[in-house]
Amino acid sequence: MINFEYSRATDVADAIRQLAADPSAKLIAGGTNLIDLMKIDVEQPRHVIDISRLPLTNVEETQDGGLKIGALVPNSDLAYHPLIAERYPLVSSAILAGASQQLRNKASTGGNLLQRTRCFYFYDTATPCNKRTPGSGCSAIGGANRINAILGTSEACIATHPSDFCVALAALNASVNVVGPSGGRAISFADFHRLPGNTPHIDTNLKRDEIITDVELPADVFGSNYTYLKIRDRLSYAFALVSVAAALNLEGDSISEARIALGGVAHKPWRKPEAESALTGKAATESNFMTAADVLLEGAKGYGHNDFKVGLARRAIGRALAQAARGTPQSQSDKKVR
Ligand SMILES: Cc1cc2nc3c(=O)[nH]c(=O)nc-3n(C[C@H](O)[C@H](O)[C@H](O)COP(=O)(O)OP(=O)(O)OC[C@H]3O[C@@H](n4cnc5c(N)ncnc54)[C@H](O)[C@@H]3O)c2cc1C
Ligand code: SF4
Repeated sequence: MINFEYSRATDVADAIRQLAADPSAKLIAGGTNLIDLMKIDVEQPRHVIDISRLPLTNVEETQDGGLKIGALVPNSDLAYHPLIAERYPLVSSAILAGASQQLRNKASTGGNLLQRTRCFYFYDTATPCNKRTPGSGCSAIGGANRINAILGTSEACIATHPSDFCVALAALNASVNVVGPSGGRAISFADFHRLPGNTPHIDTNLKRDEIITDVELPADVFGSNYTYLKIRDRLSYAFALVSVAAALNLEGDSISEARIALGGVAHKPWRKPEAESALTGKAATESNFMTAADVLLEGAKGYGHNDFKVGLARRAIGRALAQAARGTPQSQSDKKVR
C-alpha cells in the first residue's frame, strides 16, 4: 500500500488551488477508475482530492437551446434525465451500453471522459508500456492486441479510449468547460482527447491543474434517426471492440446532415468530416453508407490479433447508419428511456 493524503475540496477554486499546489495530486469523483488503478500501482498519487461533493450536479438548458451537464452528474442520472432521454437519446443509449448499473450510479460525467485505456499491458506493471512508463516500449505491438486500435496509432502506442459516452459526445459536437488557475476555457470535443503520437502518456489536452466543470451539448439534436451500436464480447458489462454513434437528419429519403463517430478503434472517438459530407444530400442507401464507412476507415490497419476490427467496423458502420435511417429502437436499454 502506498500512503497518500486525502482531502476534500470545499469548492471549485479550492480544488484548483490544491491541484496546483501538488504536482502528484489527483482529483477523485466516483473513483471507479482511479481507485482500481491505485490498487495495482498504475496510478500513484501522493494526494487525492475528493471533489465528489462539489455542486456540479445540474443538467441545465443553455440560452442557445443546448444543455449544460455538470461534471459530477452520475452516468445513470444523466442517461435517464428527461431532457437527455427526450432530446439527446443517442447520449442515453451510449451511456446505458457501458459498464453496469452499479458502476453507472457512481461514475461521473467528468470522470468518464478521463477514464484510462483498458489495454492489457497498461494494467500489468511487469510489462513495458509507454503510456504507463514513458520510454519503456509498447508491449501491445507484437503482443496480445485484440482490443487495441486500428486508426490513429503510432509506433509508441496502439491503445484505445474505452468510453461509450464520449463516442456520442463526439458525434454531437459537445464541448468541455474547464477551469484552472488562469481562468476558464471551453475545449471542443474533437480537441479534448489526443492521438498517442510519441507522448501516449498524455491522454487529453486538459492541463494538469484544470478541473472539468461541465460538458455542453449544442442545440442541434438528432432525436429521431440515431443509433449507438456497440459490438463486444459479452452483451453487457464489456468494453466495445467497435462501437458506432450514428445520427442522421433526413428530408424524405435524402440525408441533410450526418454524424458518425467510432469507439473502440482509436485513442480518441474517431470522426472524419469527409465521411459525413460523403452522405450529405445523398439517399439513405446501403451503398452510400458503405462509401461513408470506407472514407471513415481510410488508413485503418490491424496489428495481428485485432485485424478483424477493420471489417467489423465497416459492417458496424453500415448497420448503424441503416438502423438510424429506419429510426428503429436501438437496444433493450433504450426502450427503458424512450
Ligand atoms: C468493470 C468496469 C467496466 C466498465 N465498463 C465500461 C464501459 O463498458 N463503457 C464505458 O464507457 N465505461 C466503462 N467503465 C468505466 C467507467 O465508466 C469509468 O470508470 C467512470 O466513468 C469514471 O468516472 P468516475 O467518476 O468514477 O472517475 P474517477 O475514477 O473518480 O476519476 C477518473 C479520472 O478522472 C479524473 N477526474 C474525475 N472527475 C474530474 C473532473 N471533474 N475534472 C478533472 N478530472 C477529473 C480523476 O482525477 C481520474 O484521473 C467501466 C468501469 C469498470 C470498473
Ligand atoms: S498500446 Fe499503449 S497502453 Fe498498450 S502497451 Fe502499448 S503503450 Fe501501453
